[in-house]
Amino acid sequence: MNLFTDTRLTALGILHATTPCVMGNMRLPQNTQKLFEQQNIPESHIARFKQIHSDTLVCVSGLSQVQTLLKQPLLEADGWIISGTQIGAAILTADCVPLIIWDESAQVMGLSHCGWRGVAAELPAKTARQMRSCGAQGKLSAWVGPHIQGCCFEVQDDVANQFPNAVQVRGNKKFVDLNQEILRQLTQENIAPQDIVFSKHCTYCEPENFFSFRRDHTKDALLTFVYKP
Ligand SMILES: [Zn+2]
Repeated sequence: MNLFTDTRLTALGILHATTPCVMGNMRLPQNTQKLFEQQNIPESHIARFKQIHSDTLVCVSGLSQVQTLLKQPLLEADGWIISGTQIGAAILTADCVPLIIWDESAQVMGLSHCGWRGVAAELPAKTARQMRSCGAQGKLSAWVGPHIQGCCFEVQDDVANQFPNAVQVRGNKKFVDLNQEILRQLTQENIAPQDIVFSKHCTYCEPENFFSFRRDHTKDALLTFVYKP
């Protein structure tokens, strides 16, 4: 079982990963339960929301806040900012970008679900900005997890026009490289390029590792989580 992770976060003691498809569809509670048991993370400490391809972020700063949220109907949002210990957050993806940002000592962490709509709405930049308003200190670093990469993200003009700096034309087809746009947004928020790591994995290219909404036309999803012990 190969979880997709970032070595810098592992070194900071932050439990995190994007799940491979062999662990199953993470929309199913029995699969998330199994994952969090394996990771020794209490699932009731993991904040969840209903993803709506927006640029809405939610800040949570303690366990009681997470547990209050979980008792209510799920919030509609696409990004978490978490601070405090023994809490975490999770998002579902299947081609969209899972983005994790953290501050120098990983006291404040951001996790956002960036589909092309979210990237176009500047959710990556807003995640970084919101972290600073929620107390993030020192330099920020980012991990852009497995998603549909420029090799496969073919688009029509309506989408291409939203990314004037990230369109690649090959033959008579247009592709968007979301990494390029995310890099632009994060560097504009003063994150150094060398502190931004892009996963090389493409969800569309690697059926052995990932679900892909475009390729499979199903709603099966991968989970990306972060947890601060
Ligand atoms: Zn690809």
